[in-house]
Amino acid sequence: MTAHPIQWNIETDVVVVGAGGAGLVTAINAHDAGAQVLVLEKMPNIGGITILAGGGVKAVREVEPAIQYLTRTQGGRVSQDLIETFARGLKEIPDYLRELAEVSHATVEVIDEGHSGIYDFPGRETIISLRVTDIPGFSGYDWTYTGKNLYGQRFFKVLLDNVEMRAIPILTNAPARTLITDGDGAVIGLWADVNNVRTSIKARKGVVLASGGFEFNEKMKKEFFEATPIFSMGNPGNTGDGILMAQKAGAALWHMWHYHGSYGFKFDDYDAAFRISPSGARHDKRPISWVLLDRDGKRFMNELHPACQDTAGRPLGYFDPDIAEYPRIPALMIFDEAGRKIGRIANPLTSHPEHRYVWSEDNSAEIDRGWIRRYGSIEDLARAEQLPLTAVSESLARWNEGVSKGQDLDFRRPPGTMVPIGEPPFYVVPVWPILTNTQGGPEHDSQQRVLDSFGAPIPRLYAAGECGSFFAHLYLLGGNLSELLISGRIAGKHAASLIQWDENADAGFALQSARESRALTAAE
Ligand SMILES: Cc1cc2nc3c(=O)[nH]c(=O)nc-3n(C[C@H](O)[C@H](O)[C@H](O)COP(=O)(O)OP(=O)(O)OC[C@H]3O[C@@H](n4cnc5c(N)ncnc54)[C@H](O)[C@@H]3O)c2cc1C
Repeated sequence: MTAHPIQWNIETDVVVVGAGGAGLVTAINAHDAGAQVLVLEKMPNIGGITILAGGGVKAVREVEPAIQYLTRTQGGRVSQDLIETFARGLKEIPDYLRELAEVSHATVEVIDEGHSGIYDFPGRETIISLRVTDIPGFSGYDWTYTGKNLYGQRFFKVLLDNVEMRAIPILTNAPARTLITDGDGAVIGLWADVNNVRTSIKARKGVVLASGGFEFNEKMKKEFFEATPIFSMGNPGNTGDGILMAQKAGAALWHMWHYHGSYGFKFDDYDAAFRISPSGARHDKRPISWVLLDRDGKRFMNELHPACQDTAGRPLGYFDPDIAEYPRIPALMIFDEAGRKIGRIANPLTSHPEHRYVWSEDNSAEIDRGWIRRYGSIEDLARAEQLPLTAVSESLARWNEGVSKGQDLDFRRPPGTMVPIGEPPFYVVPVWPILTNTQGGPEHDSQQRVLDSFGAPIPRLYAAGECGSFFAHLYLLGGNLSELLISGRIAGKHAASLIQWDENADAGFALQSARESRALTAAE
């Protein structure tokens, strides 16, 4: 709250915090609705984690079945109003994405491999996947690394081309720090450090928080996730700033426990964490080489969830009260010589230049680095890893029996993904929960207005993208890119529709009251 007149350094209508996908879509839509827009980006490079994405964008053919499906996947944790808004947004995505893609002369293709809807819930068949292909002359951004997969980078390029065509300014090295509110709590601007200079920015219509999640805020991860440690990958700039700013302005938080994540690797001599390969939807006939054992030498989960990157980190978070520890953090990944050759076990991705790593296709370089530990026999393995030999031998024998019978005897791993583990040498790698992105943040309504802890909109404050995601229970694999399109469109248009708070105020003074601001919300 400000009690004093502010000398504004910069003035605009809508300030967007964050130049990832949600920020850019918000900016495009606020601009097209007639607002002057400024985008602030904390990092030297833009793109957030959007630029790293696999690039799958979910959409639907029909709204009603989508509502049915989302009602199940949201687990009763969001209102029907939000579900219906999201389902309608999903239906509009193919046309909207194609419209944006025209600017880049890009092609949008529908990939409908029959498993776009991950879970076997009513409405599943209506879900489709899209991705952006073939942008002439574009071979990726030099500040990010996504291996051979350029779909996320192409998706981001389409958004950026649209921003540049509209000449919307983006300030990099410009972290937003705190919201400025008037005496009644309406958001009238913010403080940012633009190139290390404390700068007051007036937002005549509103502020949209599109600053992503809290993947790299260790304190928040310890506070909101029970299991620890949970490592992150992606953009080190995503430290929950927008969430903290919204909290200070009185926002309610939601879905803080819910992260989109799997399991993977973190080594002491390398800063970045790596998630496992494969990612995306499970292919029931594509083998993976390993099983996971806990510290007692026992297998404890289906290693290949329907959407590994959504839920596969969860079983590792089991707490055993008798030992007062998490016996699956780390768990141990075990495979054999034949398995080593099936393919690389990790999928390194990063938007941080110093975190780049190219994992060898046959995992041999990582054996040489000592990340993957090699043993001539199960006896040696058990001794060196301090595991009970009998338990390890029994676990592997039972696994191999299941493989020969074509059935996972203990969990639901599809037979087509199972391979025997019996050919020495044997390999072990510790695995940890690795989160791809967080979903929690400020609660919002169907117009993306941030709600306070009593359910009322905080005037002139919005959230878009994964800063307070809609996803609350099970993820719609490929849903965060859809969400940034849906939420950015809504937030941008709505913020632009507001009447400027300073229209009748003396220049430089924060006078608009919250009551007045609410009444002036044009879309209501
Ligand atoms: C490896 C990987 C693969 C993925 N694959 C897919 C996929 O295929 N399909 C899918 O739907 N989803 C996917 N996701 C998830 C999806 O990419 C993200 O959830 C989504 O892109 C988030 O967009 P966003 O704009 O909300 O956040 P981001 O893209 O992270 O953008 C947030 C931006 O805000 C900036 N910022 C933070 N704090 C401040 C501040 N104080 N001031 C100014 N700027 C700030 C950050 O630096 C960042 O640039 C994937 C995620 C990862 C990591």
